[in-house]
Formats: sequence, C-alpha cells, structure tokens
Amino acid sequence: MRQVAIYGKGGIGKSTTTQNLTAALAYRMNKKIMVVGCDPKADSTRMLLGGLQQKTTLDTLREEGEDVELDSILLEGFHGIKCVESGGPEPGVGCAGRGIITSIGLLEQLGAYTDDLDYVFYDVLGDVVCGGFAMPIREGKAKEIYIVASGELMAIYAANNICKGIQKYANSGGVRLGGIICNSRNVDRERDLIEAFAKALGSQMIFFVPRDNIVQRAEINKKTVTEFEPESTQGLAYKSLAEAVEHNELFVIPKPLPIPELEKLMSDYGLMDI
Ligand code: ADP
Ligand code: MG
Repeated sequence: MRQVAIYGKGGIGKSTTTQNLTAALAYRMNKKIMVVGCDPKADSTRMLLGGLQQKTTLDTLREEGEDVELDSILLEGFHGIKCVESGGPEPGVGCAGRGIITSIGLLEQLGAYTDDLDYVFYDVLGDVVCGGFAMPIREGKAKEIYIVASGELMAIYAANNICKGIQKYANSGGVRLGGIICNSRNVDRERDLIEAFAKALGSQMIFFVPRDNIVQRAEINKKTVTEFEPESTQGLAYKSLAEAVEHNELFVIPKPLPIPELEKLMSDYGLMDI
C-alpha cells in the first residue's frame, strides 16, 4: 500500500488534481484507492462522489458520538474509490489540524486501511507549519509526497516551505518527496521554471498538467475529467500523470532553497524584478 500526501498552497489545484489522478489510477489501472480529505473545506472527494458533499468525520462524531460505523464516514465513489472527509472544528474554534488526527485515528480503529488497497491519498490543506496538517507525514503515514505548484510566485514560496516541513520529518518518519506536479496557470516559461526549481530541490517536475476549461465543465457536471471525458486532451493528461506516479522511482529528501536563491531563480526566469 502506497500512502501519498498531496500538499500545495490553497487554490492551487490539490483537490482537482488528487481526484483526477486517483480517478485515472482506478479507471485506467484498476487500482484500489482510498482518498482522505484533510482540509476543513471538505471538498476533496465531491467529484468522485458525483457532487455529494459528504458528511465529515468530525461532524459525524459530533452528531453521533463515539460509536461510529465505518460506512457512516467512508463512501464509495467513482470506480470504487473510498472517500473520507476529515472536516474541521466549527469556524473560529479549535485547531483545524486536529480533525485530521482524529479522522485518521478513527479510520485505523475501524479497520479502513485494508490490505487490498493499492493507494491511500491524503489531500492536505496548504501549510505543513501547523502540527495537525503535518500529521500524515509526521506519524509516518504517508511516505510519499507530491507538491502541486504553478509558476506563480506564491505557489513556489509555499512549495519551498512545504519542503522545509518534509525535511524536518524525513529522518524520523521516512517521508520523501516524489516530485512537483505543475498545475499550469499559463505563466510564461512556467515549465522551465518549475523544472529548474524542482531540480534545485534535488527532485523533479513529475508532470505538467495543462490548464483547461474542461476541468470546469466537468466540475459543473459533478465529475472528474477522467469520468466526464476520459479521452479528451485533459483526460489523457491525467492518465499520463497517473502513469508517472505509478512508475515513479525518484524519492528524495528535498533541499529547500534559501530565499535569495529562490528569488534568483524567479528572476532568471523573468518573473521578478530585483
Ligand atoms: P485546492 O484544493 O488546492 O485548494 P482546487 O483543486 O479546489 O484547489 O482548485 C481550485 C480551482 O481551480 C478549481 O475549482 C478548479 O476548477 C480549478 N482548476 C484546478 N486545476 C485546473 C486545471 N488544470 N485547469 C483548469 N482549472 C483548474
Ligand atoms: Mg482542496
């Protein structure tokens, strides 16, 4: 069982990419997968579930007490993908990261990590600075991380910060970076920039996902592109992403860049005037 965490700044496309990637792994390669949403927004599995806003683990616990059955927090979606949303505390109260800790603990207790699973994916909110959001990697759950980034400055800053978090937990938990997934924003020289950035980290740009409005069309139809139009250009891109992840062999402890080096990289690629 490969346990994979997807990190990246908010809005960069983690949930979209995770759902399309897992849908492609299931649909094209028959992989058995569980997706654990680790964002209080709880929108990590919506398109796998045909638009259903699944009740979160934390809400279920709040409403039903401790005596929870597995099938009240785990629903099967597209191609049998098992979907869980950890959820979060009521807005303004408590630490959101705790939802993840509680949710994963409960999944273990209820026997959700079955041997037949090929992959467990964690779709994790933005920053690993808070202990809760680092949970999937801190406790040695996910050994494999992909960071979703684009050529935009903030996305790269966030990716670099996430690498600091990975580095911190790499020795104790054995977690490794499998690569940067570039989710394109159509920034000039984006591919070159992300390739250079990933290389400087000691890693790789594992795949370049084009920006395409079919993602929105599929979304409106409450589907991943993989389900909506599998043979479209974008559908085939997610197929290739799935193959790249399935066959990936480059797992490293990343070396985050000092800010001056990061800025130099940005200026070398013409994105910053310094
Ligand atoms: P995150 O989970 O990182 O916060 P989302 O996956 O929710 O980000 O993505 C934010 C929005 O960006 C989504 O509503 C989706 O429509 C859009 N999006 C993501 N990836 C692409 C893409 N490759 N092409 C077009 N739109 C995209
Ligand atoms: Mg998300």
